[in-house]
Amino acid sequence: MSDSVFLFSFDVAEADAAAEGKRLGDWLVRTGWATPLMDPGPRALDTGALFNGRGGKLTVHGEPRLNMQGVDMEGPTCPYCGTQKDIDWWLEEYDDDDPYPVLQCEGCGKDVAYRDWVGTAHPIASNLTLELEDWDIQSDSPSEPPLLAEIREEMGGHWVFMWAHT
Ligand SMILES: [Zn+2]
Repeated sequence: MSDSVFLFSFDVAEADAAAEGKRLGDWLVRTGWATPLMDPGPRALDTGALFNGRGGKLTVHGEPRLNMQGVDMEGPTCPYCGTQKDIDWWLEEYDDDDPYPVLQCEGCGKDVAYRDWVGTAHPIASNLTLELEDWDIQSDSPSEPPLLAEIREEMGGHWVFMWAHT
């Protein structure tokens, strides 16, 4: 069994995906997060981003993907009031032609943009995804290894963190 962590960009256009993917891969190598073969680099070891100092490959997916992996999909929660959406309702609302709909919270009535819903196990469409196999990053939190923060700073835009259990 392997557990992957996914970091998804919301802001890379399909036309830019390959180039931005290459830029991300080059940056990961240059900064020591990855080796040129996309194994974990020294910075991954130094920051405690690996289980017991071991971890699997990094994979940059510079192409459109709809990420719906995981046996434990869960509806995300409203960032304002914490009301959780039902995952079946969520999947029905999901539309390939409009991957980032604004969805109203039935708890507080606010209209909430897709990327602002809080969760780690609902579908995300992304043109640029970084997959980390067996890395020890548990959440999108400042107390975790700073990879995600550094990616945000380098690449810009909105990135989200999710688990897959496959
Ligand atoms: Zn709400």
